[in-house]
Amino acid sequence: MNVFVLNCGSSSLKFQIISTDEDQIAKDTDQQLAKGLIERIGSEAIITLQVGDQPPFKGAAPLRDHKSALAYVIKWMSQPETRIPGITSLNDIHAVGHRVVHGAERFKGSILIDDAVIGGLQDCIDLAPLHNPANLKGIFAARELFGPQMPQVAVFDTAFHSTMPEKAYLYAIPYQLYRRFKVRKYGFHGTSHRYIAFRYRKLTGKSRQDTNIITVHLGNGCSACAIKGGKSFDTSMGMTPLEGLMMGTRSGDIDPTVIDYLVHKEGSSFDEIFSTLNKRSGLLGISGLTNDMRELEGEAEEHQDRRAILAIDMFCHRVKKYIGAYLAEMNGADAICFAGGIGENSPTIRRKVLSDMDWLGILLDESRNQQAVRGKEMLISADDSRVPVYVIPTNEELILARDTVRAVKSLPFPC
Ligand code: ADP
Repeated sequence: MNVFVLNCGSSSLKFQIISTDEDQIAKDTDQQLAKGLIERIGSEAIITLQVGDQPPFKGAAPLRDHKSALAYVIKWMSQPETRIPGITSLNDIHAVGHRVVHGAERFKGSILIDDAVIGGLQDCIDLAPLHNPANLKGIFAARELFGPQMPQVAVFDTAFHSTMPEKAYLYAIPYQLYRRFKVRKYGFHGTSHRYIAFRYRKLTGKSRQDTNIITVHLGNGCSACAIKGGKSFDTSMGMTPLEGLMMGTRSGDIDPTVIDYLVHKEGSSFDEIFSTLNKRSGLLGISGLTNDMRELEGEAEEHQDRRAILAIDMFCHRVKKYIGAYLAEMNGADAICFAGGIGENSPTIRRKVLSDMDWLGILLDESRNQQAVRGKEMLISADDSRVPVYVIPTNEELILARDTVRAVKSLPFPC
């Protein structure tokens, strides 16, 4: 099957076309045929489209909404000069898999989309006002442009974490607030943590029940997950992706009193403060320079920029703290796995996060750590480290494509 994997953000559309089916899943021979990203939808959009490993096409076009952006991709995909292997028209796409950010307590796994599911997703908008409306726009656009017969599947960021125990997901606020409004931790990046755990099992030959690891996804968004017996046991993001680790532009954990205090001190509205916490905090807020870790590392190294150094220190401190907490929660772990743009590419951040953790049995091998920069799965800990440390490049799109096949063909969903 050729699966069109779609990830719609508020002003962006990311896609991949992946060839996969039961046989390819079993043999790990799924193939990414094309991918692309359209940013700044709503104005002059920036477009990057790529077939396989060929040089990408880069362009710009006025695209007013997600439907126009998707129509642009479909037109590109269908024109003869694009030449995506096996794809000459819409008929060569067999299903669409959507990344949906919030499934609340209602969606605990990937599901074929029908009107009832759309109603359920609309019910979740209250909990994810920044994300789910964009995902729904993608679903409606795909329905219109691919036609109502095209099977569409929703794959949720929250689903993997639906196994967390109450003691991990509840906030210590009046229980009625959970009962009445479902205020609780849901966790995100579930497809990434699930993929990393899956690859860890492939690398080590462990069974799912024997998978007791800490996965750390460090990208623009960052989260850590304690995986016990192959299931999510705790994770750092909360009711929304704002909680937990320090991120590119998000603050992560913060005393809620700060919000009320700033309302009074700055005369800001709640909306303005939440916008600050989501979009102007984290690495960007502390450095005052950028949310981009690679640039911060450059500033710290070349100019010894004090606030770039501080932002990096704070970032690593918070990751270390969560790893420590999860080691305590799980009575140790069999491995720590790094993923995400930062986790996969920055030996400096991995070294800082894992420094001075020898008491916990964690010893990095610096030469292995330096080598793990090219999207390869690698062991980076020393041979005598009690807890092995891996870099495992994540692949959320692959999970999305595979789950789409499984939902369309009514196959089981292995964790
Ligand atoms: P997203 O969460 O949007 O998918 P990514 O997983 O691609 O983002 O991660 C983006 C982050 O990864 C950025 O902060 C970027 O600077 C960082 N990054 C990418 N390559 C490197 C590198 N070589 N060294 C340090 N940071 C890097």
